[in-house]
Amino acid sequence: MSNLLETVERAASKEGAETIRVIHLRIGEMAGVNIDALSFAFDVLSKGTMVEGGKLEFERVPLCVRCQECGLDSQMNDFIFRCDRCGSPDIEILSGREIEVDYIILDDECDSGQEKSAY
Ligand SMILES: [Zn+2]
Repeated sequence: MSNLLETVERAASKEGAETIRVIHLRIGEMAGVNIDALSFAFDVLSKGTMVEGGKLEFERVPLCVRCQECGLDSQMNDFIFRCDRCGSPDIEILSGREIEVDYIILDDECDSGQEKSAY
């Protein structure tokens, strides 16, 4: 979490912003992240930084896999790790393990209402 804040602060500094209003995170269903714990860590770690007073938003990313046997892409809701169509266990995880900053909204953008990605 502290690495994440550093990354965000660096990006915001580059943009010449002084404060960050919103950090929008994408968190995979399989990332093993407890959002309550993350929110708490954010509150603690953001104190005294340019993120203080900002809002942390989350977007859950479903677990999506591709079967290596038949090529089917599917969304996995029950973490069985077998292909829906052919039952093969040989699957590749496409998404659902990430913890990443999707975008941040900087303080100087409040009038435009535009979302700008620093990445
Ligand atoms: Zn398959």
